[in-house]
Amino acid sequence: MDFGWTPAQRAVHDRMRALGAEADAAAPEERMRVLARGGALGLPIARDLGGEGLDLVTTALAYEGLGATLRDGGVLLAAGAHLFGVALLLARVGTLAQQRAWLPRLARGDAMATVAATEAGSGSDIASVEAAAERTAAGYRLTGEKRFVTWADGADVYFVVARDGGEGGAAAPARGLTALLVPRASAPAGSVRAGAPLATAGLRGARLAPVSFSGCELGEGALLGRPGAGLAVFQIAMTYERALILAFRLGAMERALGEAVRFARERAIGGHAIARHQAIAHRIAHMKLRLETSRLLVYRAAWELDQGRRGQAEAALAKWHAADAALQSALEDLSIRGGAGYLEESGLPSAVDDALGGGIHSGTADVLATIVARWLGL
Ligand SMILES: Cc1cc2nc3c(=O)[nH]c(=O)nc-3n(C[C@H](O)[C@H](O)[C@H](O)COP(=O)(O)OP(=O)(O)OC[C@H]3O[C@@H](n4cnc5c(N)ncnc54)[C@H](O)[C@@H]3O)c2cc1C
Repeated sequence: MDFGWTPAQRAVHDRMRALGAEADAAAPEERMRVLARGGALGLPIARDLGGEGLDLVTTALAYEGLGATLRDGGVLLAAGAHLFGVALLLARVGTLAQQRAWLPRLARGDAMATVAATEAGSGSDIASVEAAAERTAAGYRLTGEKRFVTWADGADVYFVVARDGGEGGAAAPARGLTALLVPRASAPAGSVRAGAPLATAGLRGARLAPVSFSGCELGEGALLGRPGAGLAVFQIAMTYERALILAFRLGAMERALGEAVRFARERAIGGHAIARHQAIAHRIAHMKLRLETSRLLVYRAAWELDQGRRGQAEAALAKWHAADAALQSALEDLSIRGGAGYLEESGLPSAVDDALGGGIHSGTADVLATIVARWLGL
């Protein structure tokens, strides 16, 4: 077992750290373009398909670097949905034609992708989706309403899970699901519509919005994986996403830890620094513990996937723990500042709001606990 980083990995981390700082200084609407120009959207995509061909452990390290300097968790979430939720999925299950058509553009950020899976009646339970993918002579006709879609209005292609009318029915709903890649530009006019971004508590940069598909005609090339294999395809996408989507949080937690240490040393009450109170020092020590345990789980999950293993449970553990750790640490961080931490200008209330979202997207803690329990044979 080797816990060290190679000079090449450190160089990627440092490059992404600098890129994160550049994006942080840019206007919110420019940040994704800065990330794309700096190569952040193609890191693990094969070189011959326009990426850098990095392994997933190094990709996670790169996103840790981005998160250390870019405070806009929403835009990093959207970059993650694009790269981990769709581009990696395409690299794994897409046909050569689909990969050639999309991956170079996705890697450069010339086209943006996102996951459009959640519906009003199916968030945690993908098997309950009602969006319908009717078979036609040419391929499929898609109709349905998706919601809470990250980067909905900026996406050029949506990864959609829909009911295909195949065998399954009420007794085995998961059997009738098909995964589709829905390009916005070639869809008939008006058949794909993204709504206005929702007023979410945090992660505003992710621009969550509904997307509706109304009689959207798709060719055979839209099919991802086999017909009826939508559930399995969705699980592959979610495994990549869960393993990697919170890697940026490691950098954010590291930054918050450094700032908390500095504050506790400098803030003097009654003639001595608050760091001398064990209650304060222990809270910060717990922040360190949460950061390091999150690191171990995120890098472990990325490593499992690099080995070509399924990594479903490891990815669930990584996302579950990192989300929980980020939220607990954001709360502790705010509490050690007293009243100053409660001011919006401190950035700490919005860090709590952002961290709350991390516990919901890509599977809630309950859903992830269920995956881990099943893996344990429960
Ligand atoms: C910031 C953010 C970004 C998102 N991005 C996307 C995106 O890009 N694409 C997309 O498709 N969706 C996205 N979502 C939606 C997200 O995936 C869903 O909100 C999430 O899966 C939960 O579904 P739900 O909201 O329908 O809640 P529900 O499924 O209704 O869950 C409500 C509560 O019940 C619990 N619960 C439900 N089922 C079970 C069960 N079987 N066992 C135990 N507890 C259960 C849940 O844990 C939760 O506490 C995003 C959400 C957020 C907050």
